[in-house]
Amino acid sequence: MIDAVSFSKVSRHFGSIKAVDAIDLNVRAGEFFAMLGPSGSGKTTCLRLIAGFEQPTRGHIEIFGETAEGVSPYRRNVNTVFQDYALFPHMNVEDNVAYSLMIKGVGKTERRRAAVEALQLVQLPGYGPRRPGQLSGGQRQRVALARALIGKPKVLLLDEPLGALDLKLREQMQEELKALQKKLGITFVFVTHDQGEALSMADRVAVFNEGRIMQVGAPQDIYRRPRSRFVANFVGSSNILPPEFLQACGGPAAWASLRPEDVNLVAAEGHEAILIGRSYLGGMTRLALSVGPQRLSALVPSSSPLPDDGAAVRVDWNADDIHIMEDET
Ligand code: ATP
Repeated sequence: MIDAVSFSKVSRHFGSIKAVDAIDLNVRAGEFFAMLGPSGSGKTTCLRLIAGFEQPTRGHIEIFGETAEGVSPYRRNVNTVFQDYALFPHMNVEDNVAYSLMIKGVGKTERRRAAVEALQLVQLPGYGPRRPGQLSGGQRQRVALARALIGKPKVLLLDEPLGALDLKLREQMQEELKALQKKLGITFVFVTHDQGEALSMADRVAVFNEGRIMQVGAPQDIYRRPRSRFVANFVGSSNILPPEFLQACGGPAAWASLRPEDVNLVAAEGHEAILIGRSYLGGMTRLALSVGPQRLSALVPSSSPLPDDGAAVRVDWNADDIHIMEDET
């Protein structure tokens, strides 16, 4: 099957800034693909390269098997939902949604029919006559989505589309976007710096750092088997265990990651530790522990009985939960 997007050694440099640096990337047709990374890691530049708003300094891009270089954005069968929605304030919702059809010369009756259908899809039926200024942030986001979907793109690019929404609405939109993507079967490429969002929504995630991709995989792979310290730290929180510690615990002399939820308080055996402090997180409580010189974080149900800070405790974990990392960077 042809990939929706393929990058071969693609770079985009701005003078001395290597925004994207020799990236190889394949986005499969029909998948929900997330680009995750800290600010300035090159995610948006990658998206702009796919959209055609940027050209690579080096390398080659294909979209559904066709060379993308030199093809203008509007001929790529790709559309973008921008973080700030970029709606025209003087046009009503229907005209905003149908804008690309108007540019293509589609007649008014057909435009209206398509806009009504697109607004239905994003659960805003009847909102056509309103102006963007008369909508909530979440509704504007849906209008931007309808506008991007009306041209039936093969790839939809979403640049932090939920960034401006409050937590509750964000979670609702995450569900809706995922359901919409499955229903339409369009390839979604979603940029976010929120690891929870990437893990919960995507079929596969690419983790970016400094213009490079550190790891690509299914959310469970990225979380359970981070390849590097950077990925282990960026995707969820993790205990990064140095080789000396692991060796002292009977393991190999290598860097490893151990997730806080895999560190258990035990009554007997295990490792001697001191409970240094705690943070209440609602259902769970995060414990700060020290095992000799090594600090460890553990996540335990808040309902479990806990000794006072400063108490001597015992901790343990399953050998399977220790993940040895290939790359110590
Ligand atoms: P954010 O999450 O903050 O949007 P990002 O991961 O999307 O970040 P990019 O916007 O791709 O990062 O930027 C990558 C790097 O390239 C940054 O250092 C940025 O300052 C730089 N950059 C991006 N566009 C340009 C440009 N037109 N001219 C110069 N530098 C640029």
